[in-house]
Amino acid sequence: MPVGALDPYDDRNIFARILRGEVPCRRVMEDAFALAFHDINPQAPVHVLVIPRRAYVSTADFSARAETEEIAGFFRAVGAVARQLGLEAPGYRIVANAGGDASQEVPHFHVHILAGRPFGHRLVPEIVVRSSGSGAERDPEPG
Ligand code: AMP
Repeated sequence: MPVGALDPYDDRNIFARILRGEVPCRRVMEDAFALAFHDINPQAPVHVLVIPRRAYVSTADFSARAETEEIAGFFRAVGAVARQLGLEAPGYRIVANAGGDASQEVPHFHVHILAGRPFGHRLVPEIVVRSSGSGAERDPEPG
């Protein structure tokens, strides 16, 4: 179920468990501010998640509560992962889903690094809005 970006932090979430070492991950790098690991269900040839070590639910929470040094350290880690994986020359996309409309599933702030193929100009899938007797329905466009 999508997360509310302003929900209280639930330390039973899967990324909290990965940070505590209770659940394994395919680690890419880690430092004082962040842990990066391969997504378990990759949506591109390269799909890595970068998460802060401390507990933040979402972009809203991280940007409001994290120390300036922590925010800087986290985004330096995102750049360092991309560099380490050789993604700077071919390019990559970073995405952070926040809250229900973005379909955030894991309630620990994270950035997706997606790479390994061209993604084109469209950032999001086309949504078709249809009217029915019971109200508007939104379906993803096929393909
Ligand atoms: P989001 O929809 O932005 O919250 O994305 C959560 C991401 O976490 C999804 O891409 C999942 O495939 C990924 N994910 C969930 N559980 C794990 C796990 N145990 N290890 C690695 N990635 C995971």
